[in-house]
Amino acid sequence: MQDIRRLHRLVCLSEADIDTLATHSGLLQAILAERREEYEAWFRETSAWSDGDPPFLPTYLESFIAGEYGRDFFRIQYRQALYWRNHDCEHATSISALSQMRSLFVDQLMAQGGQEVARSLCRVIDLAQAIQALVTHLVISLQRYQEVVDKELARIHHSCETLLMVDRDQVLKAYTDHLEWKSRVYRLALGEPVARELLPLSENACDLGRWLDAGGLEQVPEKEREGLRSAHRRLHRLTRLAFEDADAGRPYGILDYLADIEAASDEIVDIFGQVLYQRLRRIATQDLLTGLGNRRAFDQRLRQDLAYAGRARVPLGLLMIDLDHFKQVNDAHGHAVGDEVLRAFAQRLEEAVRTADSVFRWGGEEFAVVVFPKDKAALEQVAARIHECVSCREVETSDGPLRITLSIGGTFLDAGTEIDAEALFSLADSLLMEAKAEGRDRVVISRATGP
Ligand code: GH3
Ligand code: MG
Ligand code: MG
Repeated sequence: MQDIRRLHRLVCLSEADIDTLATHSGLLQAILAERREEYEAWFRETSAWSDGDPPFLPTYLESFIAGEYGRDFFRIQYRQALYWRNHDCEHATSISALSQMRSLFVDQLMAQGGQEVARSLCRVIDLAQAIQALVTHLVISLQRYQEVVDKELARIHHSCETLLMVDRDQVLKAYTDHLEWKSRVYRLALGEPVARELLPLSENACDLGRWLDAGGLEQVPEKEREGLRSAHRRLHRLTRLAFEDADAGRPYGILDYLADIEAASDEIVDIFGQVLYQRLRRIATQDLLTGLGNRRAFDQRLRQDLAYAGRARVPLGLLMIDLDHFKQVNDAHGHAVGDEVLRAFAQRLEEAVRTADSVFRWGGEEFAVVVFPKDKAALEQVAARIHECVSCREVETSDGPLRITLSIGGTFLDAGTEIDAEALFSLADSLLMEAKAEGRDRVVISRATGP
Protein backbone atom coordinates (compact mmCIF):
# COMPACT_ATOMS: atom_id res chain seq x y z
CA MET A 1 0.00 0.00 0.00
CA GLN A 2 2.81 2.35 0.82
CA ASP A 3 4.84 1.91 -2.33
CA ILE A 4 4.76 5.05 -4.45
CA ARG A 5 5.44 2.98 -7.59
CA ARG A 6 2.36 0.92 -6.86
CA LEU A 7 0.30 4.05 -6.41
CA HIS A 8 1.66 5.34 -9.72
CA ARG A 9 0.52 2.17 -11.40
CA LEU A 10 -2.85 2.28 -9.72
CA VAL A 11 -3.56 5.79 -10.95
CA CYS A 12 -1.79 5.21 -14.29
CA LEU A 13 0.55 8.17 -14.10
CA SER A 14 2.88 7.56 -17.02
CA GLU A 15 6.16 9.03 -18.25
CA ALA A 16 4.14 10.69 -20.99
CA ASP A 17 1.95 12.43 -18.39
CA ILE A 18 5.03 13.64 -16.59
CA ASP A 19 6.52 14.96 -19.84
CA THR A 20 3.31 16.72 -20.76
CA LEU A 21 3.10 18.44 -17.40
CA ALA A 22 6.75 19.48 -17.60
CA THR A 23 6.28 20.91 -21.07
CA HIS A 24 3.32 22.97 -19.92
CA SER A 25 4.74 24.09 -16.62
CA GLY A 26 4.59 27.76 -17.62
CA LEU A 27 0.89 27.54 -18.32
CA LEU A 28 0.24 25.63 -15.11
CA GLN A 29 2.14 28.17 -13.03
CA ALA A 30 0.15 30.97 -14.56
CA ILE A 31 -3.12 29.24 -13.65
CA LEU A 32 -1.92 28.59 -10.15
CA ALA A 33 -0.92 32.23 -9.69
CA GLU A 34 -4.30 33.32 -10.97
CA ARG A 35 -6.53 30.96 -9.00
CA ARG A 36 -4.62 30.33 -5.76
CA GLU A 37 -6.55 32.91 -3.77
CA GLU A 38 -9.92 31.73 -5.02
CA TYR A 39 -9.00 28.17 -4.16
CA GLU A 40 -7.78 29.07 -0.69
CA ALA A 41 -10.93 31.04 -0.01
CA TRP A 42 -13.07 28.14 -1.15
CA PHE A 43 -11.15 25.77 1.13
CA ARG A 44 -11.38 28.02 4.19
CA GLU A 45 -15.09 28.35 3.73
CA THR A 46 -15.97 24.70 3.11
CA SER A 47 -13.71 23.28 5.78
CA ALA A 48 -14.47 25.98 8.39
CA TRP A 49 -10.71 26.37 8.61
CA SER A 50 -9.46 28.37 11.60
CA ASP A 51 -8.00 31.62 10.30
CA GLY A 52 -4.59 31.53 11.97
CA ASP A 53 -2.72 28.91 9.98
CA PRO A 54 -2.48 28.66 6.20
CA PRO A 55 -4.61 25.75 4.91
CA PHE A 56 -1.85 24.53 2.61
CA LEU A 57 1.74 23.84 3.56
CA PRO A 58 4.39 25.71 1.54
CA THR A 59 5.10 23.86 -1.72
CA TYR A 60 1.87 21.82 -1.48
CA LEU A 61 0.13 23.51 -4.39
CA GLU A 62 3.39 23.90 -6.27
CA SER A 63 4.02 20.18 -5.99
CA PHE A 64 1.18 19.55 -8.47
CA ILE A 65 2.99 21.35 -11.23
CA ALA A 66 6.60 20.77 -10.22
CA GLY A 67 7.02 17.87 -12.61
CA GLU A 68 8.38 15.73 -9.76
CA TYR A 69 5.87 13.02 -8.97
CA GLY A 70 8.03 10.50 -7.16
CA ARG A 71 9.19 10.33 -3.59
CA ASP A 72 9.09 14.08 -3.15
CA PHE A 73 5.50 14.41 -4.24
CA PHE A 74 4.59 11.57 -1.90
CA ARG A 75 6.38 13.26 1.01
CA ILE A 76 4.66 16.62 0.43
CA GLN A 77 1.23 15.02 0.07
CA TYR A 78 1.74 12.87 3.13
CA ARG A 79 2.81 15.89 5.20
CA GLN A 80 -0.20 17.83 3.98
CA ALA A 81 -2.49 14.92 4.92
CA LEU A 82 -1.02 14.86 8.45
CA TYR A 83 -1.28 18.64 8.64
CA TRP A 84 -4.97 18.54 7.76
CA ARG A 85 -5.50 15.73 10.22
CA ASN A 86 -3.86 17.76 12.99
CA HIS A 87 -6.32 20.54 12.19
CA ASP A 88 -9.24 18.14 12.58
CA CYS A 89 -9.92 18.32 8.90
CA GLU A 90 -12.02 15.32 7.90
CA HIS A 91 -11.14 12.87 5.18
CA ALA A 92 -14.13 14.01 3.11
CA THR A 93 -12.89 17.60 3.25
CA SER A 94 -9.40 16.81 2.02
CA ILE A 95 -10.76 14.59 -0.74
CA SER A 96 -13.24 17.24 -1.86
CA ALA A 97 -10.47 19.84 -1.73
CA LEU A 98 -8.71 17.83 -4.39
CA SER A 99 -11.90 17.49 -6.41
CA GLN A 100 -12.32 21.24 -6.22
CA MET A 101 -8.76 21.68 -7.44
CA ARG A 102 -9.71 19.55 -10.40
CA SER A 103 -12.66 21.78 -11.20
CA LEU A 104 -10.84 25.07 -10.85
CA PHE A 105 -7.60 24.19 -12.58
CA VAL A 106 -8.69 21.64 -15.09
CA ASP A 107 -11.72 23.65 -16.27
CA GLN A 108 -9.44 26.55 -16.97
CA LEU A 109 -6.95 24.34 -18.78
CA MET A 110 -9.72 22.94 -20.90
CA ALA A 111 -10.95 26.44 -21.65
CA GLN A 112 -7.48 27.31 -22.85
CA GLY A 113 -7.39 24.25 -25.08
CA GLY A 114 -4.97 22.24 -23.00
CA GLN A 115 -6.89 18.94 -23.01
CA GLU A 116 -3.82 16.80 -22.94
CA VAL A 117 -2.25 18.56 -19.97
CA ALA A 118 -5.64 18.68 -18.25
CA ARG A 119 -5.85 14.89 -18.43
CA SER A 120 -2.36 14.51 -17.02
CA LEU A 121 -3.06 16.91 -14.19
CA CYS A 122 -6.21 14.92 -13.39
CA ARG A 123 -4.05 11.87 -12.89
CA VAL A 124 -1.72 13.74 -10.56
CA ILE A 125 -4.76 14.83 -8.55
CA ASP A 126 -5.89 11.20 -8.46
CA LEU A 127 -2.49 10.24 -7.14
CA ALA A 128 -2.80 12.89 -4.43
CA GLN A 129 -6.22 11.51 -3.48
CA ALA A 130 -4.75 8.02 -3.23
CA ILE A 131 -2.09 9.32 -0.83
CA GLN A 132 -4.76 11.08 1.23
CA ALA A 133 -6.73 7.83 1.35
CA LEU A 134 -3.62 5.96 2.47
CA VAL A 135 -3.19 8.24 5.47
CA THR A 136 -6.87 7.87 6.30
CA HIS A 137 -6.47 4.10 6.05
CA LEU A 138 -3.65 4.34 8.59
CA VAL A 139 -5.80 6.44 10.92
CA ILE A 140 -8.64 3.91 10.70
CA SER A 141 -6.25 0.97 11.19
CA LEU A 142 -4.90 2.64 14.29
CA GLN A 143 -8.41 3.21 15.67
CA ARG A 144 -9.43 -0.38 14.97
CA TYR A 145 -6.28 -1.84 16.44
CA GLN A 146 -6.58 0.36 19.51
CA GLU A 147 -10.12 -0.99 20.03
CA VAL A 148 -8.81 -4.55 19.80
CA VAL A 149 -6.02 -3.71 22.25
CA ASP A 150 -8.38 -2.01 24.70
CA LYS A 151 -10.68 -5.02 24.71
CA GLU A 152 -7.83 -7.47 25.16
CA LEU A 153 -6.32 -5.36 27.94
CA ALA A 154 -9.65 -5.18 29.74
CA ARG A 155 -10.12 -8.92 29.35
CA ILE A 156 -6.66 -9.81 30.54
CA HIS A 157 -6.77 -7.44 33.52
CA HIS A 158 -10.13 -8.81 34.48
CA SER A 159 -8.82 -12.41 34.33
CA CYS A 160 -5.77 -11.44 36.35
CA GLU A 161 -7.82 -9.66 38.95
CA THR A 162 -10.23 -12.56 39.23
CA LEU A 163 -7.30 -14.90 39.75
CA LEU A 164 -5.60 -12.43 42.08
CA MET A 165 -2.55 -12.54 39.86
CA VAL A 166 -0.10 -9.85 40.87
CA ASP A 167 -0.30 -7.31 38.12
CA ARG A 168 3.38 -6.51 38.28
CA ASP A 169 3.98 -9.93 36.87
CA GLN A 170 6.64 -9.58 34.19
CA VAL A 171 4.94 -11.81 31.65
CA LEU A 172 1.74 -9.84 31.91
CA LYS A 173 3.59 -6.54 31.60
CA ALA A 174 5.61 -7.72 28.64
CA TYR A 175 2.49 -9.01 26.93
CA THR A 176 0.40 -5.90 27.43
CA ASP A 177 3.32 -3.66 26.51
CA HIS A 178 3.90 -5.46 23.23
CA LEU A 179 0.19 -5.35 22.48
CA GLU A 180 0.45 -1.57 22.40
CA TRP A 181 3.70 -1.49 20.53
CA LYS A 182 2.08 -1.69 17.11
CA SER A 183 -0.22 1.23 17.76
CA ARG A 184 2.71 3.30 18.97
CA VAL A 185 4.48 2.75 15.67
CA TYR A 186 1.27 3.70 13.82
CA ARG A 187 1.30 6.90 15.84
CA LEU A 188 4.88 7.63 14.82
CA ALA A 189 3.88 7.10 11.20
CA LEU A 190 1.04 9.57 11.73
CA GLY A 191 3.51 12.13 13.00
CA GLU A 192 2.29 11.94 16.61
CA PRO A 193 4.76 12.26 19.45
CA VAL A 194 5.49 8.97 21.22
CA ALA A 195 7.45 8.93 24.45
CA ARG A 196 10.76 7.22 23.84
CA GLU A 197 10.63 5.27 27.09
CA LEU A 198 7.46 3.54 25.86
CA LEU A 199 9.50 1.84 23.17
CA PRO A 200 12.77 0.61 24.64
CA LEU A 201 15.11 0.52 21.71
CA SER A 202 17.38 -2.21 22.95
CA GLU A 203 15.93 -5.68 22.75
CA ASN A 204 17.37 -6.55 26.14
CA ALA A 205 15.97 -3.50 27.86
CA CYS A 206 12.27 -4.29 27.54
CA ASP A 207 10.28 -6.51 29.90
CA LEU A 208 10.04 -9.24 27.32
CA GLY A 209 13.78 -9.22 26.64
CA ARG A 210 14.60 -9.33 30.33
CA TRP A 211 12.09 -12.10 30.88
CA LEU A 212 13.50 -14.15 28.01
CA ASP A 213 17.06 -13.68 29.29
CA ALA A 214 16.07 -14.65 32.81
CA GLY A 215 14.96 -18.10 31.68
CA GLY A 216 11.46 -17.18 30.49
CA LEU A 217 12.21 -18.71 27.11
CA GLU A 218 11.83 -22.14 28.68
CA GLN A 219 8.19 -21.38 29.35
CA VAL A 220 7.61 -20.86 25.64
CA PRO A 221 6.64 -23.97 23.65
CA GLU A 222 9.87 -25.25 22.07
CA LYS A 223 8.75 -24.92 18.48
CA GLU A 224 7.90 -21.24 19.02
CA ARG A 225 11.14 -20.19 20.72
CA GLU A 226 13.22 -19.29 17.69
CA GLY A 227 10.26 -17.52 16.10
CA LEU A 228 9.71 -15.44 19.21
CA ARG A 229 13.38 -14.50 19.54
CA SER A 230 13.74 -13.49 15.94
CA ALA A 231 10.42 -11.59 15.81
CA HIS A 232 11.48 -9.74 18.93
CA ARG A 233 14.85 -8.84 17.45
CA ARG A 234 13.14 -7.70 14.24
CA LEU A 235 10.62 -5.61 16.10
CA HIS A 236 13.33 -3.75 18.00
CA ARG A 237 15.47 -3.18 14.92
CA LEU A 238 12.54 -1.86 12.88
CA THR A 239 11.31 0.30 15.73
CA ARG A 240 14.74 1.88 15.98
CA LEU A 241 14.39 2.78 12.31
CA ALA A 242 10.89 4.12 12.93
CA PHE A 243 12.19 6.44 15.62
CA GLU A 244 15.02 7.61 13.38
CA ASP A 245 12.53 8.37 10.61
CA ALA A 246 10.17 10.14 12.99
CA ASP A 247 13.01 12.18 14.54
CA ALA A 248 14.23 13.17 11.09
CA GLY A 249 10.73 14.36 10.14
CA ARG A 250 10.14 11.43 7.78
CA PRO A 251 7.05 9.74 9.22
CA TYR A 252 6.10 8.56 5.71
CA GLY A 253 9.38 6.57 5.62
CA ILE A 254 7.91 4.22 8.25
CA LEU A 255 5.30 3.05 5.74
CA ASP A 256 8.04 1.14 3.92
CA TYR A 257 8.41 -1.33 6.75
CA LEU A 258 5.19 -0.87 8.70
CA ALA A 259 3.90 -4.21 7.41
CA ASP A 260 7.05 -5.94 8.75
CA ILE A 261 6.61 -4.26 12.12
CA GLU A 262 2.99 -5.39 12.21
CA ALA A 263 3.95 -8.97 11.36
CA ALA A 264 6.68 -9.11 14.03
CA SER A 265 4.43 -7.54 16.63
CA ASP A 266 1.52 -9.87 15.83
CA GLU A 267 3.81 -12.88 16.08
CA ILE A 268 5.10 -11.83 19.49
CA VAL A 269 1.66 -11.04 20.84
CA ASP A 270 0.38 -14.35 19.55
CA ILE A 271 3.08 -16.56 21.07
CA PHE A 272 3.22 -14.55 24.21
CA GLY A 273 -0.53 -14.56 24.62
CA GLN A 274 -0.40 -18.36 24.64
CA VAL A 275 2.27 -18.36 27.35
CA LEU A 276 0.28 -15.93 29.45
CA TYR A 277 -2.97 -17.87 29.11
CA GLN A 278 -1.18 -21.09 30.06
CA ARG A 279 0.12 -19.31 33.12
CA LEU A 280 -3.32 -18.00 34.03
CA ARG A 281 -4.69 -21.48 33.59
CA ARG A 282 -2.08 -22.83 35.96
CA ILE A 283 -2.95 -20.21 38.54
CA ALA A 284 -6.62 -21.11 38.22
CA THR A 285 -5.93 -24.78 38.85
CA GLN A 286 -3.09 -24.66 41.35
CA ASP A 287 -3.29 -24.57 45.13
CA LEU A 288 -1.25 -21.63 46.38
CA LEU A 289 -0.03 -23.14 49.64
CA THR A 290 1.21 -26.51 48.41
CA GLY A 291 1.58 -26.04 44.67
CA LEU A 292 -0.55 -29.14 44.09
CA GLY A 293 -3.53 -29.15 41.76
CA ASN A 294 -6.58 -27.62 43.45
CA ARG A 295 -10.13 -28.88 43.67
CA ARG A 296 -11.04 -27.50 40.25
CA ALA A 297 -8.09 -29.37 38.74
CA PHE A 298 -9.11 -32.49 40.64
CA ASP A 299 -12.70 -32.40 39.37
CA GLN A 300 -11.48 -32.01 35.83
CA ARG A 301 -8.81 -34.69 36.10
CA LEU A 302 -11.08 -37.24 37.75
CA ARG A 303 -13.58 -36.89 34.91
CA GLN A 304 -10.86 -37.17 32.28
CA ASP A 305 -9.19 -40.19 33.90
CA LEU A 306 -12.51 -41.90 34.42
CA ALA A 307 -13.38 -41.41 30.77
CA TYR A 308 -9.95 -42.69 29.74
CA ALA A 309 -10.22 -45.76 32.01
CA GLY A 310 -13.60 -46.52 30.43
CA ARG A 311 -12.28 -46.19 26.89
CA ALA A 312 -9.02 -48.06 27.51
CA ARG A 313 -10.74 -50.61 29.80
CA VAL A 314 -8.16 -50.27 32.58
CA PRO A 315 -8.75 -50.13 36.37
CA LEU A 316 -8.78 -46.83 38.25
CA GLY A 317 -8.33 -45.95 41.91
CA LEU A 318 -9.26 -42.90 43.97
CA LEU A 319 -7.79 -42.19 47.39
CA MET A 320 -9.17 -39.50 49.69
CA ILE A 321 -6.79 -38.52 52.48
CA ASP A 322 -7.49 -36.47 55.61
CA LEU A 323 -4.92 -35.49 58.23
CA ASP A 324 -6.00 -36.59 61.68
CA HIS A 325 -6.82 -34.09 64.41
CA PHE A 326 -5.28 -31.34 62.39
CA LYS A 327 -7.15 -28.70 64.32
CA GLN A 328 -5.05 -29.68 67.32
CA VAL A 329 -1.86 -29.01 65.32
CA ASN A 330 -3.05 -25.48 64.67
CA ASP A 331 -4.26 -25.02 68.22
CA ALA A 332 -1.02 -26.24 69.74
CA HIS A 333 1.54 -24.75 67.34
CA GLY A 334 -0.22 -21.99 65.43
CA HIS A 335 -1.61 -21.73 61.96
CA ALA A 336 1.76 -20.99 60.36
CA VAL A 337 3.18 -24.27 61.64
CA GLY A 338 0.00 -25.97 60.40
CA ASP A 339 0.80 -24.55 56.98
CA GLU A 340 4.34 -25.91 57.16
CA VAL A 341 2.96 -29.35 57.89
CA LEU A 342 0.57 -29.14 54.94
CA ARG A 343 3.39 -28.15 52.62
CA ALA A 344 5.70 -30.86 53.86
CA PHE A 345 2.96 -33.45 53.58
CA ALA A 346 2.15 -32.38 50.01
CA GLN A 347 5.77 -32.93 49.07
CA ARG A 348 5.91 -36.36 50.64
CA LEU A 349 2.66 -37.26 48.96
CA GLU A 350 4.05 -36.40 45.56
CA GLU A 351 7.12 -38.49 46.25
CA ALA A 352 4.99 -41.45 47.31
CA VAL A 353 3.10 -41.80 44.02
CA ARG A 354 4.14 -42.54 40.46
CA THR A 355 4.24 -39.77 37.90
CA ALA A 356 1.22 -41.18 36.08
CA ASP A 357 -0.82 -40.73 39.26
CA SER A 358 -2.01 -37.27 40.15
CA VAL A 359 -2.15 -35.57 43.51
CA PHE A 360 -4.46 -32.73 44.59
CA ARG A 361 -5.24 -30.65 47.61
CA TRP A 362 -8.97 -31.15 47.73
CA GLY A 363 -9.42 -28.51 50.44
CA GLY A 364 -8.20 -27.70 53.97
CA GLU A 365 -6.26 -30.72 55.24
CA GLU A 366 -7.81 -33.08 52.73
CA PHE A 367 -6.02 -34.45 49.69
CA ALA A 368 -6.96 -36.68 46.77
CA VAL A 369 -4.94 -39.04 44.60
CA VAL A 370 -6.11 -40.46 41.29
CA VAL A 371 -4.22 -43.68 40.54
CA PHE A 372 -3.97 -46.06 37.61
CA PRO A 373 -3.23 -49.30 39.53
CA LYS A 374 -2.91 -52.62 37.77
CA ASP A 375 -5.15 -54.28 40.40
CA LYS A 376 -6.67 -53.70 43.83
CA ALA A 377 -3.48 -54.86 45.58
CA ALA A 378 -1.48 -52.22 43.70
CA LEU A 379 -3.88 -49.51 44.91
CA GLU A 380 -3.52 -50.81 48.47
CA GLN A 381 0.24 -50.58 48.10
CA VAL A 382 0.06 -46.95 47.02
CA ALA A 383 -2.23 -46.19 49.99
CA ALA A 384 0.16 -47.99 52.37
CA ARG A 385 3.10 -45.98 51.02
CA ILE A 386 1.21 -42.73 51.59
CA HIS A 387 0.20 -43.83 55.07
CA GLU A 388 3.80 -44.66 55.90
CA CYS A 389 5.21 -41.47 54.49
CA VAL A 390 4.03 -39.64 57.62
CA SER A 391 3.61 -42.41 60.14
CA CYS A 392 7.25 -43.52 60.07
CA ARG A 393 8.91 -40.11 59.92
CA GLU A 394 8.20 -36.91 61.85
CA VAL A 395 7.60 -33.66 60.00
CA GLU A 396 10.22 -30.97 60.61
CA THR A 397 8.66 -27.59 61.47
CA SER A 398 9.89 -24.29 62.86
CA ASP A 399 8.32 -25.42 66.17
CA GLY A 400 10.28 -28.65 66.18
CA PRO A 401 9.50 -32.08 64.73
CA LEU A 402 5.84 -33.12 64.76
CA ARG A 403 4.28 -36.49 64.49
CA ILE A 404 1.08 -36.61 62.47
CA THR A 405 -1.18 -39.35 61.26
CA LEU A 406 -3.71 -39.60 58.51
CA SER A 407 -6.73 -41.56 57.40
CA ILE A 408 -7.35 -42.80 53.87
CA GLY A 409 -10.53 -43.94 52.16
CA GLY A 410 -10.04 -45.52 48.75
CA THR A 411 -12.16 -46.94 45.96
CA PHE A 412 -10.90 -49.42 43.42
CA LEU A 413 -12.69 -49.53 40.11
CA ASP A 414 -12.33 -52.68 38.04
CA ALA A 415 -11.75 -52.23 34.31
CA GLY A 416 -15.07 -51.79 32.57
CA THR A 417 -17.08 -50.80 35.67
CA GLU A 418 -19.39 -47.92 34.83
CA ILE A 419 -19.69 -45.17 37.40
CA ASP A 420 -19.73 -41.39 37.30
CA ALA A 421 -17.23 -39.10 39.00
CA GLU A 422 -19.63 -37.91 41.72
CA ALA A 423 -20.53 -41.46 42.74
CA LEU A 424 -16.88 -42.56 42.75
CA PHE A 425 -15.98 -39.58 44.87
CA SER A 426 -18.74 -40.07 47.45
CA LEU A 427 -17.80 -43.73 47.76
CA ALA A 428 -14.18 -42.85 48.56
CA ASP A 429 -15.34 -40.10 50.90
CA SER A 430 -17.64 -42.46 52.83
CA LEU A 431 -14.75 -44.94 53.18
CA LEU A 432 -12.65 -42.10 54.58
CA MET A 433 -15.40 -41.43 57.13
CA GLU A 434 -15.31 -45.11 57.97
CA ALA A 435 -11.52 -44.96 58.57
CA LYS A 436 -12.10 -41.97 60.87
CA ALA A 437 -14.91 -43.71 62.73
CA GLU A 438 -12.81 -46.82 63.21
CA GLY A 439 -10.19 -44.81 65.10
CA ARG A 440 -8.19 -42.86 62.42
CA ASP A 441 -4.57 -43.51 61.36
CA ARG A 442 -5.64 -46.21 58.94
CA VAL A 443 -6.55 -47.12 55.36
CA VAL A 444 -9.94 -48.44 54.25
CA ILE A 445 -10.19 -49.55 50.62
CA SER A 446 -13.11 -51.12 48.88
CA ARG A 447 -14.10 -52.14 45.39
CA ALA A 448 -16.68 -50.03 43.60
CA THR A 449 -19.45 -52.09 42.14
CA GLY A 450 -20.95 -49.51 39.85
CA PRO A 451 -24.47 -48.09 39.95
P1 GH3 B 1 -10.28 -35.16 61.91
O1 GH3 B 1 -9.30 -36.15 62.41
O2 GH3 B 1 -11.68 -35.55 62.28
O3 GH3 B 1 -10.14 -34.85 60.51
O4 GH3 B 1 -9.99 -33.84 62.78
P2 GH3 B 1 -9.46 -32.50 62.23
O5 GH3 B 1 -9.13 -31.61 63.38
O6 GH3 B 1 -8.36 -32.73 61.28
O7 GH3 B 1 -10.71 -32.01 61.44
P3 GH3 B 1 -11.51 -30.68 61.45
O8 GH3 B 1 -12.36 -30.73 60.23
O9 GH3 B 1 -12.22 -30.51 62.78
O10 GH3 B 1 -10.47 -29.56 61.36
C1 GH3 B 1 -9.68 -29.37 60.21
C2 GH3 B 1 -8.66 -28.35 60.54
O11 GH3 B 1 -7.80 -28.10 59.45
C3 GH3 B 1 -9.26 -27.04 60.97
C4 GH3 B 1 -8.62 -26.03 60.08
O12 GH3 B 1 -8.22 -24.88 60.74
C5 GH3 B 1 -7.41 -26.76 59.55
N1 GH3 B 1 -7.04 -26.25 58.24
C6 GH3 B 1 -7.75 -26.26 57.11
N2 GH3 B 1 -7.08 -25.63 56.13
C7 GH3 B 1 -5.93 -25.19 56.69
C8 GH3 B 1 -4.81 -24.44 56.18
O13 GH3 B 1 -4.75 -24.04 55.00
N3 GH3 B 1 -3.80 -24.17 57.03
C9 GH3 B 1 -3.83 -24.58 58.32
N4 GH3 B 1 -2.79 -24.28 59.11
N5 GH3 B 1 -4.86 -25.25 58.82
C10 GH3 B 1 -5.89 -25.57 58.02
MG1 MG C 1 -11.14 -32.69 57.21
MG1 MG D 1 -8.72 -33.84 59.54
